[in-house]
Amino acid sequence: MFDLPVYLDNNATTPCDPRVLEVMLPYFNVMFGNAASRSHSFGWTAEAAVDNAREQVARLIGAQPQEIVFTSGATEAVNLAIKGVFETYTAKGNHIITCQTEHKAVLDTCKHLEKKGAAVTYLPVNSEGLPDLAALEAAITPQTILIALMYANNETGVIHPVQAIGAIAKKHGVIYMCDATQAVGKIPVNVHTDQIDLLTISAHKLYGPKGAGALYVRRRDPRVKLTAQQDGGGHERGMRSGTLNVPGIVGLGMACELAQQEMETEAKRLSAMRNRLQDALLQIEHAYVNGSVEHRLPHVMNISFKYVEGNTLLMGFNKTIALSSGSACTAASMEPSYVLKALGIGDDLARASLRFALGRFTTDEQIDYTIRTVTDTVQQLRAQSPLWEMYREGHPVDSASWAHP
Ligand SMILES: *Cc1c(COP(=O)(O)O)cnc(C)c1O
Repeated sequence: MFDLPVYLDNNATTPCDPRVLEVMLPYFNVMFGNAASRSHSFGWTAEAAVDNAREQVARLIGAQPQEIVFTSGATEAVNLAIKGVFETYTAKGNHIITCQTEHKAVLDTCKHLEKKGAAVTYLPVNSEGLPDLAALEAAITPQTILIALMYANNETGVIHPVQAIGAIAKKHGVIYMCDATQAVGKIPVNVHTDQIDLLTISAHKLYGPKGAGALYVRRRDPRVKLTAQQDGGGHERGMRSGTLNVPGIVGLGMACELAQQEMETEAKRLSAMRNRLQDALLQIEHAYVNGSVEHRLPHVMNISFKYVEGNTLLMGFNKTIALSSGSACTAASMEPSYVLKALGIGDDLARASLRFALGRFTTDEQIDYTIRTVTDTVQQLRAQSPLWEMYREGHPVDSASWAHP
């Protein structure tokens, strides 16, 4: 048996693994030293723990420990990377290339920099959610200082052709920043084979604690320089001042080590469950998977149900399954997801989408329950839906007939 609601929103956040929590706990009250204290053993103990975590994080992504800068999470890491490059490389240029389906951390940072003189290209994506590599290469100018393209999308799970992007960036001498927040610990990520110069990680997306993350900063071929976005004691080699969150960093390190050990078996287990869920839900009439099915994280599926009103769909699950639609929901309105819209999915289907993100603690029984519940709920909602009735009676159902308050 299991408790309700079933948690299938692991792309929003994951529970802290008990093994991670256990190694963190002593660093709150027993080994509580400041990792920057050089004059006593409390400080040395904390520093040793941070050094160990730095190695654990680096190992997972094929980096050197000195290339890891600890931050409060991926949002901060993205801000440090993009703003840090923009401020450092002004003499070279002001052009940044990103894409329409990036996380808001990237898009809003780029928007902010546009007000400070940056020129930003937002590449479109195809119906699979993938940017065109020829368009990427064509967008590069002598003023291009940064390519910011994510590893895997948080809403669809679609995986970008990272190695090909890295090769294009390298060929043109442009720094490549990859928001790998959803990919690290789930699929193999290696900053060398992928030719990534800056990469972001968040602990709470891989069974670690909230409020801890890291930025990988390449130190050779090329050596990437960043302007600090926060001044203080010069921690993290001057790139990120502020007393280190030692328990959080210890947790991030352990989370990375566990992910590395378990990634292969876990990816197999989760993709089998995800595929079973997908096959079952595609038995529902007019159900469509959003984004590439081939280039996709093993634990993610985004699916839309036609002729169901989006604003009632998610509500149908609030007591049974914790899900997200990828849409920004407020009480008054429900904006369709900009990511799904960028794939060319209409507003109605984008609103009627559900993102299933399985995780380490998802069980087969929970998937059985989810299949039954989603199937029943969609059928019930359709039974009450005038759109479904019109469709069944053979009337054309176009966008104009969708009423949204
Ligand atoms: C969650 C997420 C972020 C933000 O990470 P935080 O650590 O919560 O700030 C950035 N990018 C992607 C792709 C994410 O999924």
